[in-house]
Amino acid sequence: MPRKFERLTRRIRACRLCIEAPRGRPLPHEPRPVFQASSTARLLIAGQAPGTRVHASGRPFTDPSGVRLRQWLGMDETLFYDERRVAVVPMGFCFPGQNAKGADLPPRRECAPAWRDELMSHLSAIELIVCLGRPAQLWHMGDLAGADVTAAVRNWRLALALRPRVLPLPHPSWRNNAWLKKHPWFTDELLPVLRQEIAALFPAHGSS
Ligand code: SF4
Repeated sequence: MPRKFERLTRRIRACRLCIEAPRGRPLPHEPRPVFQASSTARLLIAGQAPGTRVHASGRPFTDPSGVRLRQWLGMDETLFYDERRVAVVPMGFCFPGQNAKGADLPPRRECAPAWRDELMSHLSAIELIVCLGRPAQLWHMGDLAGADVTAAVRNWRLALALRPRVLPLPHPSWRNNAWLKKHPWFTDELLPVLRQEIAALFPAHGSS
C-alpha cells in the first residue's frame, strides 16, 4: 500500500470526529470505523454504515445483508474480502446507533465530507461502483440519483455510462423485501447485468 494511502487509512481508523466535534448528538459509543480499501481495487461497494453485527466484528457485511449482497454479486467471501480487488467504503464508517424503535440511524453526517473525497482520490483503479441505498446514490450519481431510491435504481442503464460505471441498488437489508417484491425488474433485469459486470471484472475468479 502506498505510504500516503496507508497514512490516510491510519488517520481514519483513529478518527473521533463524531465524539469530539459532532454535528448534533455525539456518537453514543467509541468510534470503530469499518471499511476495506486498496489502491488496486477495481470494484467499490459504497454502502451506508455498519449495523450492530458489523460493529462487533469490525469487518464489512458480516450480517444477513452481506449474505444477500454476495448473492446479488455472484461473489464468494474470498473475493469479497480481498481488499486488493474489492473496496468496501460505506458513507459512514462507524455504527451510528439506533433510534427508539431499534432501527439503525442513518450514516453520520460528519463522515463523508470529512473523508470520502480524499479516500476516493486514492482509489484510482475503481471501474465499477455499486451504490447501496440513498446516501451513496446521492454522493456518486449526481442528477441520476433522482428523487428517491426507486428513481435512482430505475436509472441503472444510464448510470452504467458514467465513469467509473455505477450500478445503483437498494440496500440488501430485509427491510427492503417489500421493495424487491414490488419491483421484480430489479431481479429479472438488473441483477443479471450486475453479475456479468462482476464476472468481467474478475474473470479468473469464476464468479457465477
Ligand atoms: S463515523 Fe466517520 S467521522 Fe464519525 S467518528 Fe467514525 S470515522 Fe470519524
